[in-house]
Amino acid sequence: MSDCLFCKIIAGQIPGQLVFQDDDLIAFKDINPQAPLHVLIVPRRHIATLNDLTPADDALVGSMFRAAAGLAREHGYADRGYRTVFNTNGEAGQTVFHIHLHLLGGRALAWPPG
Ligand code: AMP
Ligand code: ZN
Repeated sequence: MSDCLFCKIIAGQIPGQLVFQDDDLIAFKDINPQAPLHVLIVPRRHIATLNDLTPADDALVGSMFRAAAGLAREHGYADRGYRTVFNTNGEAGQTVFHIHLHLLGGRALAWPPG
């Protein structure tokens, strides 16, 4: 998708601070971090929202959560705790329409979220 910010990061057309990548996923630091660790785990393939997933994407989404758990462990937050979030559409505050799993760690996180 030529006008998608995250597709541009994936293509190397705009910079991202990469912390993980494999054949299907990349993960990079959020530009406006909301916690000491705030990483976005993003599939290389453009998928606009969770509403666009199909059963064929089940393994891909599972791998996004496993990547998040691995990064949380790498940073020492596996036992302390961390949060993983997908925002979908307007009321949830989705601003980039290429699915991404937020990984937040390193501080106490309130519940319910705002
Ligand atoms: P969401 O509101 O769930 O769609 O999340 C989009 C996230 O992308 C926000 O947390 C932004 O801070 C983050 N973001 C926007 N532009 C960039 C960028 N160029 N590099 C890294 N993160 C970005
Ligand atoms: Zn995209």
